[in-house]
Amino acid sequence: MRTLRSALSTQVLVVNRCLQAVHITSARRAFVLLYTEVAKALDDTWIGQDFRAWASVAPKPGEASLGTSRGLIRIPRVIQLIDYDRMPRATVRLSRRNIFLRDAYTCQYCAKRSSARDLNLDHVMPRSRGGPTTWENVVCSCRVCNLEKGGRTPAEAGMKLLRRPARPRWSPVLALAFTPARPKEWEPFLSTLPGARELEQLWANSDHSADHEHECDDDE
Ligand SMILES: [Zn+2]
Repeated sequence: MRTLRSALSTQVLVVNRCLQAVHITSARRAFVLLYTEVAKALDDTWIGQDFRAWASVAPKPGEASLGTSRGLIRIPRVIQLIDYDRMPRATVRLSRRNIFLRDAYTCQYCAKRSSARDLNLDHVMPRSRGGPTTWENVVCSCRVCNLEKGGRTPAEAGMKLLRRPARPRWSPVLALAFTPARPKEWEPFLSTLPGARELEQLWANSDHSADHEHECDDDE
C-alpha cells in the first residue's frame, strides 16, 4: 500500500448521470462525494454503489486502496454523480500544455517535434506590438525559430505557419484524461467524446515528462 497522501491524490474520473466524463478529481474528494451521497462508485460492471456497499468489498491484491480505521477500502477509479446530467465544460483553458497538445509538440514554423523543455510559446503577432495571448495568436515554437523570429511577424521574418492556430475542440477534461498513465477503467468513458481520437494520438506521440510548468509566460 502506498502512503496515505499519495493514495488520497489518486486521480478519479467523474462521470455524469449519462456516463459522460465531466471531470477528474482526487480520491480524497471522491470519497467525500461518495460519503455524502452526491456520487456513487462504479466498478467494472458500471453499477453504482454507495459508500457502504463499496466499502464492504475488500480490495483484491494489488488494487489501489486506502487504510482506514475500518480496514482497507478500495479507491474507486470512476465515480458517477447522482444528480448531475450536464455536459463537461466546453472551453479549453489556454495554457502552455494545452497549446503544446494542440500543436502536437511540433514547432509551427519548422515542423520539428520536441519535448516540452525544448519548446517555447510564440506570439504570432508579437506581444510588444499588441499581439494578444489567445488560441488564435499563440503557437508552439522551437527555441531556434522563436529566436530567429524575434519581435517580428511571420511575414516580416520570412517564416510561414504550418497551420492557422485556433481553439481546439476537445474539452479540458479530455485533455487531462488522455495521459498515457490513465487507468484502463477510464477507457469506455473517454473514447466516444469529441476530439478523443485526436488527443489520444497527440499524447501517444508526445514527451510530456517535463510538462508541469507554469502557464503562458515564456516568449519573446
Ligand atoms: Zn522551429
